[in-house]
Amino acid sequence: MSEIAFLGLGRMGFAMAERLVRAGHRVRVWNRSKDKASALLAAGAVWAESPAVAATGATAAFGMLADDIASNEVWLGPAGALAALPRGAFAIECSTLSAAHVAALAGQARARGLRYVDCPVTGFPSHVVEGKLTLLVGAEKADLEALRPIFADIAGTVRHFGAVGAGTAYKLMVNLMGAVQIAALAEGLALGRRLGLEDAAVADALATGAAASPQVVQNISRMLSGDWDRNPVFTAALRLKDAAYGVALGEGAGAAIPLGKAATKWFEAAKALAPDADQSIVLKAVTSAS
Ligand code: NAP
Repeated sequence: MSEIAFLGLGRMGFAMAERLVRAGHRVRVWNRSKDKASALLAAGAVWAESPAVAATGATAAFGMLADDIASNEVWLGPAGALAALPRGAFAIECSTLSAAHVAALAGQARARGLRYVDCPVTGFPSHVVEGKLTLLVGAEKADLEALRPIFADIAGTVRHFGAVGAGTAYKLMVNLMGAVQIAALAEGLALGRRLGLEDAAVADALATGAAASPQVVQNISRMLSGDWDRNPVFTAALRLKDAAYGVALGEGAGAAIPLGKAATKWFEAAKALAPDADQSIVLKAVTSAS
């Protein structure tokens, strides 16, 4: 059993923190909107009035937050967690963040004698609940080994990509590929409709054809049904954020990423329609443009 701080109880963070509580850890939680913590508090988590209060005395603090702005506020803000963690404790960022932010935050953590672990994830909230989340880790090997028992309580698979920053590098690369695939699906479905093809026939053929990546299969029916507002799994705003961070990383590395940039434009249009809708609203963005 460990003393854990969990910061950020959105769709993913809530599910991850819940697993830690149910595994028997002592978990102090903080979220910008306190109401999202209610069910966790009933399950045994303890509310902390700030990230700093949550981190005080913790052996490990997890962050699961929207973006760089949120991560900056929660770790480094006036009541931030980093300054409150005891020396030697782990600062584990599971949010999908820009590579530049991760490098800066890791540097600040190291300067305070903390062990920073770069730990973005892949999987939906339902995967967390089922114990099928995958952690994409960038960390010192010894730090990862020390964390394996806690990680086993959150995730089904742990992939180690190398030193701090390597988990984020992979995550941004693969999510940019995801953005391309989902945007390409939206373009294909919009074109099919324009050509008079039946949605049902297209959906069935696509889902079992050579272009059926898991991303494509996961998004076809939601895109075609137009069911964007109910229980979004991954929002248009988050998809755009990930794609933009991926483009920045690619450009910084001197990589040719015209497809990634084009997909990012579609998600800019999708976010402009409804930032909190499911990312499948990109079909509406594509359809509106033609
Ligand atoms: P979400 O439900 O929108 O939750 C976002 C969290 O960030 C909430 O706790 C929110 O607090 C907090 N937040 C936002 N702005 C803040 C600020 N300025 N200061 C403090 N807290 C702030 O998002 P999610 O789906 O859980 O995703 C969380 C992270 O996981 C993101 O980086 C996302 O890219 C990544 N991810 C998500 C999925 C997925 O399937 N959903 C999969 C893999 C990775 P409030 O509750 O107060 O709004």
